[in-house]
Amino acid sequence: MSGGTRLLIVGPPGAGKGTQAARISHAYGIPTISTGDIFRANIKNGTELGLKVKAIVDAGDYVPDELTNALVTDRLNEADAAGGFLLDGYPRTTDQVRYLDELLASHGHALDVVIRLVADQDEIVERLRRRALEQGRMDDSEEAIRHRQEVYTRETEPLIAMFRDRGLLLEVDGLGAIDDVAARIAAGLAGRGLQPRAA
Ligand code: ADP
Repeated sequence: MSGGTRLLIVGPPGAGKGTQAARISHAYGIPTISTGDIFRANIKNGTELGLKVKAIVDAGDYVPDELTNALVTDRLNEADAAGGFLLDGYPRTTDQVRYLDELLASHGHALDVVIRLVADQDEIVERLRRRALEQGRMDDSEEAIRHRQEVYTRETEPLIAMFRDRGLLLEVDGLGAIDDVAARIAAGLAGRGLQPRAA
């Protein structure tokens, strides 16, 4: 890991993180590292990790920090993350923040910006219901969605104040057209001196 842009995107389940993450990845030439995607891929492929976490993920609970931290460490050590990355869905607990801080610091790095997508709860439930129909996600039943929102509010919302105190927080309105949200993020990042790679 050296040089580069190190970003994190946070927001409640269904706020559109995955969609915006793909845009940012492309614009800045950095990989998105989504712990949710990694867990889902492992579940789908029936790996040892997948078997271990399936019931937890399906229920909308958080996978134990130890397991998640180890997974992210391996992923960040891959070559494509050396020039920066965008984390999506990690860190999500205070322990994960502490772990990531130390991991990055051990390489002389730190997060540059934390993008927070802000979105209305009702709109989100509607979006997630649509996604459940389109993608058949097991954790997108209405009950599971509500549970994930509760877990997020309890476990992850408190991290936002922490990032704000560090001056890392970029708050972006996540409602509206995908392009509009992407433009807001790009403007916010530019305002912090982060420019996309030349097209
Ligand atoms: P969401 O749309 O709910 O934000 P994600 O795709 O980010 O969903 O994550 C899906 C599920 O994967 C979570 O509900 C949780 O079970 C698990 N997961 C993902 N990231 C983490 C993490 N950092 N720590 C613990 N569990 C995680």
